[in-house]
Amino acid sequence: MIDLKIFEVWFITGSQHLYGEETLKLVAEHSQQIAKGLDADAQTPVRVVYKPVVKSPEEIYATLQEANTTENCIGIITWMHTFSPAKMWIRGLSILQKPMLHLHTQYNRDIPWSSIDMDFMNLNQSAHGDREFGFIVSRMRKNRKVVVGHWQDPEVLGQINAWARAAAGWHDWQGAKFARIGDNMRYVAVTEGDKVEAELKFGYSVNTYGVGDLVKVIDAISDEAVNNLIAEYEATYDMAADLLKGGAKHQSVYDAAKIELGLKQFLEDGGFKGFTDTFEDLHGMIQLPGIAAQRLMAAGYGFAGEGDWKTAALVRAFKVMGSGLKGGNAFMEDYTYHFDPNNELVLGSHMLEIDASLANGKAALEVHPLGIGGKADPARLVFNVAGGAALNASIVDMGNRFRLLINEVEAVEPQNDLPNLPVARVLWKPYPDMKTGCAAWIYAGGAHHTAYSQNLTAEHLQDFADIAGLEFIRIGKDTKLDQLRNELRWNDASYK
Ligand code: MN
Repeated sequence: MIDLKIFEVWFITGSQHLYGEETLKLVAEHSQQIAKGLDADAQTPVRVVYKPVVKSPEEIYATLQEANTTENCIGIITWMHTFSPAKMWIRGLSILQKPMLHLHTQYNRDIPWSSIDMDFMNLNQSAHGDREFGFIVSRMRKNRKVVVGHWQDPEVLGQINAWARAAAGWHDWQGAKFARIGDNMRYVAVTEGDKVEAELKFGYSVNTYGVGDLVKVIDAISDEAVNNLIAEYEATYDMAADLLKGGAKHQSVYDAAKIELGLKQFLEDGGFKGFTDTFEDLHGMIQLPGIAAQRLMAAGYGFAGEGDWKTAALVRAFKVMGSGLKGGNAFMEDYTYHFDPNNELVLGSHMLEIDASLANGKAALEVHPLGIGGKADPARLVFNVAGGAALNASIVDMGNRFRLLINEVEAVEPQNDLPNLPVARVLWKPYPDMKTGCAAWIYAGGAHHTAYSQNLTAEHLQDFADIAGLEFIRIGKDTKLDQLRNELRWNDASYK
């Protein structure tokens, strides 16, 4: 699991010298209590660190510059307990490179009716202090998340939590490396994209590696290491007798385990956070990585098939954002439909590589032929996926911008056995309904490949899109097709 507690968000309170020492002392005390409260809340995935109250352009600039250069600081939370004239913030905000959440809160929840006087009013004036701050951030066209409410309100804490997770996903992308082993699947459009622009916008790099480079690492894996991993497979998964040692298909399991160890070594040696491969370029490899990709994803690596680096990077970001939450995040593909008018469903799967972290119960390790690629029969894990709220997300390259598209769905448990389907599978109902959801997805140019999440919500992804400067399109319960088509048209105009 990816540990998010190594990351900090800084709690920065703005004020000014006008109020005098006594009031500023109280501002600092209250800020410390709020920072401590946020830090201690079980929902908060990262550390929340109090920073001394900033009262001048110089202090603001110095603090935000320090936030930029502090490696484990993934974002800042700002709050104006008193009035902090916002021209003081211009220079600091103009250099700020970390995500920002503006917490529009107040130290006290209630107005103390019987004791309130002008001293109290002068100390507790975020109602207008935060408006002054909000103006300058809007005037500077800076993205931020505005959260309103008392700092102990569970809903407020939940919104901060979602933003902190999005900020962690963003932080993880900065400087991240993804290996594209082999190129794109020939002629496929949506998996392509501008890797230079992605590095400029998103901070991660995608570079190609020859399959031969990987094969060399796989070939050097020892017998002993392979046999240890096979023992782990046998302890973890249901396996038919012909897959066990001495069985007719044991060699396929052996080859798959060797590929998994080689790939893992290759990723560790290169410091990669994810990878892609393609069945059209497997020279020297015995089979397409199936169980290897499934288990490496479950271990936190981003992955997508057929050279789809955008989805691989998104899957990795999902792994980071969802870390510690119940449920999994995975590479997915809309595969086939059930158009029964009383029970419309999408069956999601892939040729082999559905993330093992989604498995509902014990998975079966199976070896079957693969219809394409012309290689040996690959080993893969076969399992069902639990029902419940989920979403699919896709990043597409629209030529002049990247678009993050999501569709909220309700996953359902399979009602039928699928004895002849040799891959892991998920069934879901798209919101708002099958026809609208699928049509909206297609109008928006969403890919057939997605990152599928059981634990992230539209809020996490809206926050992530805002931080990343991504266009964000959500297909959910309230989506109306004509309205969504207009939204797409208007967005086209706004990005021109
Ligand atoms: Mn595919």
